[in-house]
Amino acid sequence: MYDLVIIGNGPAGLSAGIYAVRYGLDTLILEKDVISGQIALTDIVENYPGFSSIAGIELMDKFKEHAQEAGVITEDGEVLNIKSDGDKKIISTDEGEIEAKAVIIATGANPQHLGVPGEEEFAGRGVSYCATCDGPFFRGKNVAVIGGGDSAITDALILSNLASKVYIVHRRDELRATKVLKDRAFSKNNIEFICDTVLEEIVGSDDVNGSVEKVILKNVNSGDIKKMAMDGVFIYVGIVPNTGFVDVDKTSDGFIVTNDKMESSVEGIYAAGDCRVTPLRQVVTAVSDGAIAAASAHEFVSGR
Ligand code: NAP
Repeated sequence: MYDLVIIGNGPAGLSAGIYAVRYGLDTLILEKDVISGQIALTDIVENYPGFSSIAGIELMDKFKEHAQEAGVITEDGEVLNIKSDGDKKIISTDEGEIEAKAVIIATGANPQHLGVPGEEEFAGRGVSYCATCDGPFFRGKNVAVIGGGDSAITDALILSNLASKVYIVHRRDELRATKVLKDRAFSKNNIEFICDTVLEEIVGSDDVNGSVEKVILKNVNSGDIKKMAMDGVFIYVGIVPNTGFVDVDKTSDGFIVTNDKMESSVEGIYAAGDCRVTPLRQVVTAVSDGAIAAASAHEFVSGR
């Protein structure tokens, strides 16, 4: 039986791992994917202290290297559920069962889908949720970015260096994104904002290999419908936490409720990073959550 199993290998999970082994806990990190969280898909990170500009993947490679050097053990496995049995937690994965005295959930979140007609049909054929992954397919083309948060603006900036024109479609007339990102987007002459507007439908060719050809947009004030020729649609309308496998207190949209020690409603189960209720979702806050969760797990396991 492990002292601690950490589920997820993003910034929160790796940070928790580094702290946990330094506390002397026999620790295992379970990873569903070799990609270390959403940040590994981010082009450039400019707000993690110590690195004024670093590729997301490079930053996460450094995290992994550090965790390995510290002695963190990692195994593949997708967690299906967690059950409490007396003093132990039984973690069922697609590879079998693992027992631990404590568990930290650091499973992050995935992009929210919008649910408009054409979105699922053209996923991977013009509809994307990641400019770093798919942007190069749209070199010299016209793309729409849906959303007004940090993810939308960050990826619109990446796309503006590849596509010939980027339309940011936002449901309000004010962006949610941070000022530094907004200012950068405003200064790009191939980014155009279409405000007070929602995406109604994505239209493309019926052919099995067909791709996105146009978008249908609706002005939320006037109700006017506009059809625009478009080669790609990148959707950033929020995130969905990966927490379906665990039965602890959550918000209606699935974020795990914790206290400031990262304790969930179930003794011995902690949450860290984007999957929990938090006022700020950044690498720096995920790492901090991970460290606090490891300290709390150490207290619990050592009976203090
Ligand atoms: P977000 O901050 O929740 O923004 C989602 C955007 O989508 C909002 O502009 C929202 O509009 C819009 N939206 C939501 N539902 C919609 C719908 N049904 N139809 C049309 N538009 C809709 O999500 P995010 O941008 O993915 O960011 C998630 C977290 O990661 C945030 O905490 C963010 O700060 C962080 N993050 C940080 C960075 C960075 O620091 N560089 C980069 C990426 C993400 P409203 O504004 O009207 O609500």
